[in-house]
Amino acid sequence: MSVSPVSDDELGDAGRAFERYWSARTAVRSLRDRWPVVGVNRVLGNRSGMLRRTAAEAYLDQALDRPNLRVVPDCEVRRLEVAGRRRVTGVHTERFTVRAGEVVLAGGTLGTAQLLLASDLESLGGAAFLAAGEHRGLAVSYRRKEPAEPGMVLPTVLHTDDGLEIRCYRDDFATYIDGLPRSGSMVEVTAMHWSPVRLVAGDERVRLEFGEPSAEATAAMRAGADEVVEMLHSSEFAGIVVQDSVSVAAVPGFSQHAWGTMPMGVRTDALGAVHGTEGLRIVDGSILPTGGRSGPHATIMMVAVHIGNRLSDKG
Ligand SMILES: Cc1cc2nc3c(=O)[nH]c(=O)nc-3n(C[C@H](O)[C@H](O)[C@H](O)COP(=O)(O)OP(=O)(O)OC[C@H]3O[C@@H](n4cnc5c(N)ncnc54)[C@H](O)[C@@H]3O)c2cc1C
Repeated sequence: MSVSPVSDDELGDAGRAFERYWSARTAVRSLRDRWPVVGVNRVLGNRSGMLRRTAAEAYLDQALDRPNLRVVPDCEVRRLEVAGRRRVTGVHTERFTVRAGEVVLAGGTLGTAQLLLASDLESLGGAAFLAAGEHRGLAVSYRRKEPAEPGMVLPTVLHTDDGLEIRCYRDDFATYIDGLPRSGSMVEVTAMHWSPVRLVAGDERVRLEFGEPSAEATAAMRAGADEVVEMLHSSEFAGIVVQDSVSVAAVPGFSQHAWGTMPMGVRTDALGAVHGTEGLRIVDGSILPTGGRSGPHATIMMVAVHIGNRLSDKG
């Protein structure tokens, strides 16, 4: 799946002001480079024009002619079929049961946890929840003098050496999500540290219970938010931000990055095979051993491609 950086034309006024402000104070990654730096990093997107390219478009479409592949859309898997609390023999869906020598779960950290918690697997020891990591973030909100030009929601970010990702969102999220009340434009100060969340078994869906971020993450977020407030009061943002409209959230939100319920090296092997079971593999965010210093999506895709290649003997 190829990626490309947001172009200069797509930054919007807030993105341009953000990059002008920080480029006078820290390093800036060249648009030709892919590896993030401590400093300003233009966001890389897996998109064609303004549309995200999905994993299905990148990988599934080209495999649809395979005679041994059957894709069943709009069909929820309800539970694993398990023999003797150890051997996974298939899946039970809302419409039918599939028998298989091996099941590869790719339901995402939440979807896979739901299926694992609903299945009577000895290796999970009757657990009522699975622990995961999240990236918590403090929102620094402000009102704009003029509406933002339309464009990509997150064009540019700053990485700090104490593990923050400071995200310059272009506009109020309500501009992008129908039905969301307006809450102002936002710069989010996210601690790319492990913050705890529990995925608790529910009747139909797992429930998320958030723990407290560590003292280190909280201190880093608070210090980062102070710097962002200073930035929003700087001359670079004078034409954008309504005076006295800047406020810092009282409680950190979360990034929808939950990962690591079944970490590779602890609960699975290097190819996602689940320890203590037979015929069960997981290939999604559940197996990430760490959350990394950026969003997990690219890493999940990379690990999935690697495992796929190894299993098909290409890697
Ligand atoms: C609003 C939002 C913004 C995000 N922004 C970023 C970002 O900017 N950068 C970044 O790196 N990450 C971002 N993330 C996180 C990123 O999207 C996820 O980490 C990544 O998609 C996880 O990949 P996955 O393959 O593990 O699971 P998913 O992409 O969630 O795929 C799992 C699939 O399995 C399906 N499924 C689940 N359970 C079942 C079932 N029982 N039966 C049938 N199908 C099932 C789901 O419908 C889904 O299609 C964002 C997430 C959200 C929600």
